[in-house]
Amino acid sequence: MKVPFHRVDTSGNELRYLQEVLESGWLTTAGRCFDFEKSFAKATGARFGIAVNSCTAALHLACEALGVTRGSEVLVPTLTFTSTAEIVEYLGGRVRLVDVDPTTGLLTPALVESALESHPSISCVMPVHFAGRPCHMRGPAGDPGIVDICAARGVAVVEDAAHAFPARHADGSMVGSAIGSAATCFSFYANKTITTGEGGMVTTDDEELAERMRRMRLHGIDRPAWDRHRRGGTSWEYDVVAAGFKYNLSDLAAAVGLAQLERVEESREARARLADRYRDRLAPLDSTFRLPLGTDVESHHAWHLFVAHLRKSSGIDRSRFIEAMTEREIGTSVHYKPLHRMSHWSRSCLDDGGHEPRDLREEFPAAEAWYEGCVPLPLYPSMKDSEFDAVCAAVEESVHACRQPVRRP
Ligand SMILES: *Cc1c(COP(=O)(O)O)cnc(C)c1O
Repeated sequence: MKVPFHRVDTSGNELRYLQEVLESGWLTTAGRCFDFEKSFAKATGARFGIAVNSCTAALHLACEALGVTRGSEVLVPTLTFTSTAEIVEYLGGRVRLVDVDPTTGLLTPALVESALESHPSISCVMPVHFAGRPCHMRGPAGDPGIVDICAARGVAVVEDAAHAFPARHADGSMVGSAIGSAATCFSFYANKTITTGEGGMVTTDDEELAERMRRMRLHGIDRPAWDRHRRGGTSWEYDVVAAGFKYNLSDLAAAVGLAQLERVEESREARARLADRYRDRLAPLDSTFRLPLGTDVESHHAWHLFVAHLRKSSGIDRSRFIEAMTEREIGTSVHYKPLHRMSHWSRSCLDDGGHEPRDLREEFPAAEAWYEGCVPLPLYPSMKDSEFDAVCAAVEESVHACRQPVRRP
């Protein structure tokens, strides 16, 4: 690939901090992890950060702590990665998929309200801040957000913020702060805005919730090894107070995370500048592409993804377009094939008792349109001018190539 879809940036203190951990002789969860939790909580304005080994683990812990259990119904947008939904089934709950807003790909208060009307047994809602653009979570008065609607009905909210670090809500507070919801989950997977290789974080302001998640991330043990180690004395003594999980983050991973955090704001600004440049440069292709909206204030968007959309009226087939881009050695990707198109989730959608067989594509028209047209373009701070130009030239050429009639043998 001339321009890969993503390139990891470890140009800061990553190596130095890793070496310090290696030399310290304590590789698993301890001081570096707690430093990372504190710094991350500070960066999002949350009281507590609980570091875990993936965002999937964070989502699982948050839903468990908020009481999702056997028989619970949980609302999940169909335009997301399978993690958001699968953890509901870990807990014995049932996933209700819902369509998204056609322009932003986000869950909206209106969509949540109508889903809660039709399915009053839903006890938890999981908004996904897709591409790094935050969902509308809270007021002002007269314009209730997802949390306002859920709070009025006693429904819990867990945010999937795997794409949204760092991002801000419309009132200026960070995604991850308590303005959003009780628990917000972040991903440090290799292609996310910051990475620890594999890793995740859940933020909350609720002390009891934090304590439950902290305990459950390490086997339900009341006094973890690092604590016993620190206090000395009867260091072997501990109790298991619940059947927990093995979700803790190592100090090795946290060391990388701390180095990544140091550059997080400059890296967000670099992505936002690239997003602006794409919008300027591709504006002449307006009849072919719909480009992603910014937010009122640009600093509100994390710009994890820049998803251009082929307009239906362009007559260009998305798969053919991606082939043309690949021929020109430009990395693209599809975010996402909606969950209702996956065999497991489609079965679970259809298995709701007594309905005639039906076409799920008609049930999720916005996510379908999103999927059919989406062309995410490379967007990362280390992108050079020459690479940016190569992507834009390839887009122009590919549009041209796809307009040619297909030659048949
Ligand atoms: C990447 C991603 C996840 C999962 O993150 P992991 O850290 O790999 O578990 C969950 N939700 C969304 C929307 C994602 O993009």
